[in-house]
Amino acid sequence: MIQSLLIANRGEIACRIMRTARRLGIRTVAVYSDADAKALHVREADEAVHIGPPPARESYLVGEKIIAAAKATGAEAIHPGYGFLSENAEFAQAVIDAGLVWVGPRPSSIVAMGLKDAAKERMIAAGVPVTPGYLGEDQDPDRLKAEADAIGYPVLIKAVAGGGGKGMRRVDAAADFADALLSCKREAASSFGDDRVLIEKYILSPRHIEVQVFGDTHGDVVHLFERDCSLQRRHQKVIEEAPAPGMDEATREAICAAAVRAAKAVDYVGAGTIEFIADASEGLRADRIWFMEMNTRLQVEHPVTEEITGQDLVEWQLRVASGEPLPKRQDELSIDGWAMEARLYAEDPTTGFLPSTGPLTRFSLDAFHSGARIDTGVIEGDEISPFYDPMIAKIIFHGQTRDEAAEGVADELLNLSVWPVRTNAAFLVKLLRDDAFLSGNVQTGYIGDNLERLTAIDPPNDGVLNSAAEALFPAEGTSVWMRRSGFRLNRAADTRLRLADESGALVEFEAGPGYDRVFTDVIGGVAIHPMQGKTYLFRRYEPRGSAGGAGASDGAILSPMPGRIIAVDVAAGDAVTKGQKLVTLEAMKMEHSLTAPFDGTVAELNAETGGQVSEGALLVRIDKAE
Ligand code: ADP
Ligand code: ADP
Ligand code: MG
Repeated sequence: MIQSLLIANRGEIACRIMRTARRLGIRTVAVYSDADAKALHVREADEAVHIGPPPARESYLVGEKIIAAAKATGAEAIHPGYGFLSENAEFAQAVIDAGLVWVGPRPSSIVAMGLKDAAKERMIAAGVPVTPGYLGEDQDPDRLKAEADAIGYPVLIKAVAGGGGKGMRRVDAAADFADALLSCKREAASSFGDDRVLIEKYILSPRHIEVQVFGDTHGDVVHLFERDCSLQRRHQKVIEEAPAPGMDEATREAICAAAVRAAKAVDYVGAGTIEFIADASEGLRADRIWFMEMNTRLQVEHPVTEEITGQDLVEWQLRVASGEPLPKRQDELSIDGWAMEARLYAEDPTTGFLPSTGPLTRFSLDAFHSGARIDTGVIEGDEISPFYDPMIAKIIFHGQTRDEAAEGVADELLNLSVWPVRTNAAFLVKLLRDDAFLSGNVQTGYIGDNLERLTAIDPPNDGVLNSAAEALFPAEGTSVWMRRSGFRLNRAADTRLRLADESGALVEFEAGPGYDRVFTDVIGGVAIHPMQGKTYLFRRYEPRGSAGGAGASDGAILSPMPGRIIAVDVAAGDAVTKGQKLVTLEAMKMEHSLTAPFDGTVAELNAETGGQVSEGALLVRIDKAE
C-alpha cells in the first residue's frame, strides 16, 4: 500500500480524499494557489505546497508544478480528484513517467474515452448500445445538416471534446440547425480548443442513469449499481440518488452488465462511471437505455453509491492503485436502502443563479442531529472564492426508503445557517419535497420547465418575523411578545411591529407567540433567519433614517455586510443633513445606501469608490450638530 499521497485538487474533494487517506495511515500532501493559502484542504493536510496564483490554469492545471511538488515532498502517488487534471491523459502519463503512482485509469483508457465520438465507436464495437446519431468524421456543415435531417428532429449537437454540460445545442427544427451549429462550434473551440461536433438523436422523456464501475490491474471489473442524476439544471446535476427509482432487476442487470463490458473494452483500472441516457416515456426499459459517455475518474456524486453499498470508493482507488485486487467480488456487493445527495452551491436562485462569493461569516449545518453526511471543503470563517467552482457542500442522506432519504437531505438544509453568501438551499428543499420528484419519474428538463415555481420565495412566516423583531429590539424588552403580552386584553395598534426587509421595504405584522429565536442571528444591525433553507434579512424600519442601522445613534456608520463601495457622496468635513446619502455599498449584487442619521458634519470618512469593505467596518462618523 502506498504510504504518501499528493492530492492535486482543492475544496471538498481534496478533503474527502484526505479523510480516507488519514484513516489508512497514508501521509497527505496538499497543493494550493494563493487564493487557497488558508483553505481547509491545506489545514487538514500533513504538508502543503504552494503552486501559483489563483487562476487554475496557472496553478491547479499546471501538471509540472504538481509533479514537482510531489517530488519535493517525497509523495509516492498523486490523486487528481475530479475536474482539473483528472481526465488529462498527458498528465497521467507524466505522473507515471516521473516514477509516481497515478491514482486513476491507464492513460490509454482516458484517451479511448476522452472524445465522445471515438468513445461511442469503441462502445459500438463492444456491443454496448449507444445513442443513435452521427459520429462526425466529416465536419462539413452541409453534411452535418443532412445527417441531422436523416436522424430526425429534435437532435442534439455535441462537442466531441465537451464536458461539464458545455458545448451542447438542442435543435428542434431543420431551419435552426445552421445557427445552432455555428454557436456550438464557437463554444466548443473556446471551451475545449476543439470545435468538432457529433450529432445525436435528442432523446425525449430523458432520464440520466449512470453506473459506477471499478477495475483492477489484475483484469477484474465490477459494477457498484446505478445512480439516477436526472434532476439537472442546464445539463448539470443538482440532486443525485442511488438506486434509480423505477429500476427493475432485469433492467438493472442489463445496464450494469453493459457498463462492465464498456469498462473492459478499454482495459479499465480504478473508478469510472458509464453515463447512459434513458427514454423513460414508458418507465425504464433495457432496450431504451443508451451509452452517452464515460467519466474516467471519481464522480462528484460517488457518495450515494458509497452509502448504499457500504464501501469507501476512495479506499478502493488507493488499494487498486497500489496493485491490490478489488476489495469485493461482484457477488459480495448489494444495495442497502436509498441514498440521496444535494449539491449546495453559493449561488442565488432569485437572481438567475448568479454565483455569490465572499466570506462565510456564518456557516453551520446540523449533521450531528440529523445523521446526514456532509462533504465540504469549508467551515465557518472560510471564504467562497470567485476563482473556482462555487459548490459549498454536498449533503448526503442514507435512509431505508427513497422518501426517507429525500426528507433527510431536506431536513438538513432547513437547519442551514449561512450568511452573507447566498445559497440554493431553499431551491433544493423545494425540489426534495416536490410531488413530481417524489413520484420518481422526473426528467432532465424538469427544473427548466418549472423554474419560476421552484425559485419563488415564500413570504417569511410569523415565527421568522417575531424572532427577527425580538433580535432587533433587545433594548426594549427580552421578548417582543412577552413585553407586549400585558396589552393582550386590548390588542390594539401597539402590537403591530415594523421591520424593513432586505430591500428596505416596510414589513408590518402582528407580534405573536409563534416565535423561535434559535436560528436568528444579528450581524451589523441585520437579523438573519433561515426558513425552509432561505435566509431572510431584516433591519429596524427607519422611514427616513439610516439604512445601516447599527451605531446610528452615535453617528458611526458601519458597513452592514461585506461589499464594495460604489459611490461616496460626501467628503470629510462636509455638513450633512439627516437622511442625506453618504455612501453606497454594493453587496451580494444589491445596492445599499447608507444615510446620515441626523444633521451634523462628516468627522471621519473611511470609504473610497471601488474599495472592498468588511462587515462592521466603520465607513463614516457623523458628529451631531449642536
Ligand atoms: P459530474 O458528472 O461528476 O458532476 P461534471 O462533468 O459535471 O461531473 O464535472 C465534474 C467537475 O469537473 C466539475 O467541478 C466541473 O466543473 C468540472 N469539469 C467537468 N468538465 C470540465 C472541463 N471540460 N473543463 C473544466 N472543468 C470541467
Ligand atoms: P457532459 O460531458 O457535458 O457531461 P453528456 O454527454 O454526459 O455531456 O450529457 C450531459 C447531459 O445532457 C445529460 O445528463 C443529459 O441530461 C443531456 N443529454 C445528453 N445527451 C442527450 C440526448 N441524446 N438526448 C437528450 N438529452 C441528452
Ligand atoms: Mg456527462
